[in-house]
Amino acid sequence: MRDIAHFVNGQALAGSSGRFGDVFNPNTGEVQARVPFATDAELDAAVQVAAKAQIGWAATNPQRRARVMFEFKRLIERDMNSLAEILSSEHGKVIADSKGDIQRGLEVIEFACGIPHILKGEYTEGAGPGIDVYSMRQPLGVCAGITPFNFPAMIPMWMFGISIAVGNSFILKPSEKDPTAPVKLAELMMEAGAQVGQDLAGVLNVVHGDKSAVDAILTHPLIRAVSFVGSSDIAHYVYQTGTAHGKRVQAMGGAKNHGIVLPDADMDQVVKDLSGAAFGSAGERCMALPVVVPVGKTTADELRERMVAEIASLKVGVSTDLDAHYGPVVSSQHRAKIADYIRIGQEEGAELVVDGRDFSLQGFEKGFFIGPSLFDGVKKGMKTYQEEIFGPVLQIVRAESFEEAVALPSEHQYGNGVAIFTRNGRAAREFAASVNVGMVGINVPIPVPVAYHTFGGWKRSAFGDTNQHGVEGVKFYTKVKTVTARWPEGEVGDSSFVIPTMK
Ligand code: NAD
Repeated sequence: MRDIAHFVNGQALAGSSGRFGDVFNPNTGEVQARVPFATDAELDAAVQVAAKAQIGWAATNPQRRARVMFEFKRLIERDMNSLAEILSSEHGKVIADSKGDIQRGLEVIEFACGIPHILKGEYTEGAGPGIDVYSMRQPLGVCAGITPFNFPAMIPMWMFGISIAVGNSFILKPSEKDPTAPVKLAELMMEAGAQVGQDLAGVLNVVHGDKSAVDAILTHPLIRAVSFVGSSDIAHYVYQTGTAHGKRVQAMGGAKNHGIVLPDADMDQVVKDLSGAAFGSAGERCMALPVVVPVGKTTADELRERMVAEIASLKVGVSTDLDAHYGPVVSSQHRAKIADYIRIGQEEGAELVVDGRDFSLQGFEKGFFIGPSLFDGVKKGMKTYQEEIFGPVLQIVRAESFEEAVALPSEHQYGNGVAIFTRNGRAAREFAASVNVGMVGINVPIPVPVAYHTFGGWKRSAFGDTNQHGVEGVKFYTKVKTVTARWPEGEVGDSSFVIPTMK
């Protein structure tokens, strides 16, 4: 059995706690490795290393730090295929989705290459007589990131990419379900440093663990800021505990994104988009579209009929199958949870139009596969509508009017993403302006903002005020210092040197 190691001070470090988590291959259902769960002492040792490394790293000029990011980008592109294979083998998503996962993280690294431009600060000449004011953004010190299983490359890069580029050191606590890709990224970061002539040991550390490691991060006095992405109850806990211990915290949570379909929408596009957004990556995306809201009976009936046909054409396969639409879900517990939600949906009175529970892949009967499911007649009060399923299940909620449709995502407890499909610019504009959700797509099913904008939901999809990446990310990982300087007039010392009087 392969034992995964922590990665501290540029080196692999075997865990000493004796506590491990199993890392599965979701295609076969077999355990392929063990990941160690850190003790408080191990976490503390990593933080001490990071605190020491941060002093030299913060003193390294921004352009040199950016050069490490340029090199890191090159190395990831070099290793894209092997990284994607590792990622797929632990997560279960198909290779194309794993490459997408890495690529979206890479785009944040590209943004981080230009961070010196944002760190320049502000300057006011002559704010008073002989007085100039300038402000600068300085790094915080040691920062930490706690990440979910569903984007094991992109989300760590959202966090450490920005944090390290601005001069912090970083402790990453990745998901215990697919921890190998994050360790590979940390190794590549060390290699990138070496190529640029910069020893990065201690600047990026990976410490594995469960709740105990998370608690050690949230209470450690030297950790200044914590970025979390995961489910909402834990996000809320992380936000409350971290802030109570004086840390800056951004904690992204779960989601239940709606797609509103107006009668004038391009239905070919809607069906294609829903197919990818509801079932791609087995629905294990926080920006998936698991709820579709057709407006009017004609639109709803047509959509239902076409989605049934579309679902019949989807191929579920192993993650290495290049023709597969999606692969297995991450764990047998998660598959059981999805199946349970489908059962509850039926009991609540929704119509189960397509049932994916009995799906089994020949030769991979022990893999964590589940087929696509479709519900119609889902209503607002249902538990299966209110809660996040995080699986390949699409729910149709019929609405009679535009107003009724818009109210659904606006009133939902989650507010991560939402999309509207229409040819009517005025309706789309009204929708984007008024909907109570953080990220909006107009004829775009998964409106994940590009890296130089920012990512963040509203309501129970995010706790804390600052979004991930973009300028907001830079603000999260830096603090502002403002200097007000007055320069006295007149001469001091050698009177032969005359200082001109300021006008
Ligand atoms: P999760 O909440 O189970 O785990 C996230 C992290 O928290 C992991 O590192 C895990 O080890 C740690 N953790 C687990 N239990 C804990 C506990 N009791 N106390 C403290 N820490 C704990 O989430 P997941 O299943 O890995 O990921 C899926 C969830 O993440 C979904 O809800 C999804 O919507 C959400 N997500 C949100 C976003 C976003 O940006 N809003 C992005 C991706 C995923």
